[in-house]
Amino acid sequence: MSYTKEQVLEALKGVIYFPKSNNIVALQMVQDIIIEEKQISFTLIFPDSKDKSSTIVVPAARKAIKSAFGENMEVGIKVTSADLIDGEAPLAGVKNIIGVASGKGGVGKSTVAANLAIALANTGAKVGILDADIYGPSVPLMFGLVDGHPDVQKINGKDVIIPLEKYGIKILSVGFFVDPTQALIWRGSMVTNALKQLVNDTKWGEIDFLVVDLPPGTGDVQLTLVQEVSVTGVAIVTTPQEVALADARKAFGMFNTKQINVPILGLVENMSYFTPAELPDNKYYIFGKDGGKRISEQYNVPLLGQIPIVESICEAGDNGSPIALEQDSIIGKAFKNLADSIIEKTIQRNSEQPATERVQINH
Ligand code: ADP
Repeated sequence: MSYTKEQVLEALKGVIYFPKSNNIVALQMVQDIIIEEKQISFTLIFPDSKDKSSTIVVPAARKAIKSAFGENMEVGIKVTSADLIDGEAPLAGVKNIIGVASGKGGVGKSTVAANLAIALANTGAKVGILDADIYGPSVPLMFGLVDGHPDVQKINGKDVIIPLEKYGIKILSVGFFVDPTQALIWRGSMVTNALKQLVNDTKWGEIDFLVVDLPPGTGDVQLTLVQEVSVTGVAIVTTPQEVALADARKAFGMFNTKQINVPILGLVENMSYFTPAELPDNKYYIFGKDGGKRISEQYNVPLLGQIPIVESICEAGDNGSPIALEQDSIIGKAFKNLADSIIEKTIQRNSEQPATERVQINH
């Protein structure tokens, strides 16, 4: 039996949007209705992306559909907001959001995120980096901005953060605002709110790639990010050792779950091999060979890049001039290859899949 859009709208007339004391159909909040045999999907447009009423309206709309068309009817609800559609939202000019994640700390995730940002910018792309590694922000040090204080401007009556800029990259770090030793004792809700502010209250402007340096593991920050923004894809950083690979699997598991479902662009193997400066053609696989290849095959994702162990990477990081600035060095080339793969996989992903939906987690 096939239903009509009018029947769907009729069923949804019982759902009230309290801030305007009217039903969601009269307020034209219901759009893009798609009726299939076992599923009814539609988009709900809220006036404002910060509107909290979605937590009441979405389950009510789902219930209304099920009571009209039967409990077995699947209901797909996409939530968006008028300000996002109007392009007024701070992230409206950001074309791709790339999360850089890892299963555990110390694998070089932040080093990869910072140098990837540089290598992407070297291709001519407009790049931003958001350091969301709340418990150990390292972007200020790596970009030589430890004393950085982003400006805050009033735009349309709202305080908006202006990211700092260096090497042509827009840079924002949670480290500009909080002492990491304080963040260690934060409750989950404080972590969540800090990230929401960094994402939503920042004037990013036009950006092709916003690289987000996530904390290691699978916690509140990752969950908040996927709820707040449409993450284009994530790159997972690991080292070739078995212990690191085991943790990388957990990160894969998290982004792959049906509920989160953020595309994984691929794996980055860091500290893959060591090449002595005097023997540039020799590769020594100190932490084992092919670890990254094995796991990328297991998860059927591409190995985006292999970054060698380079002594000076640490020094360059501490000096505030990421090593990828040296474009002709062995490591500079490794980061260029990584940036090229990220661009290629992003273009491919965008042509094959629709924008990632923001995750809805109902508590
Ligand atoms: P994470 O963000 O995963 O905790 P970091 O990026 O802070 O890791 O890196 C941890 C340490 O390893 C830093 O001292 C960094 O300079 C060093 N490091 C990262 N990648 C490499 C590499 N390819 N070669 C040598 N040292 C590296």
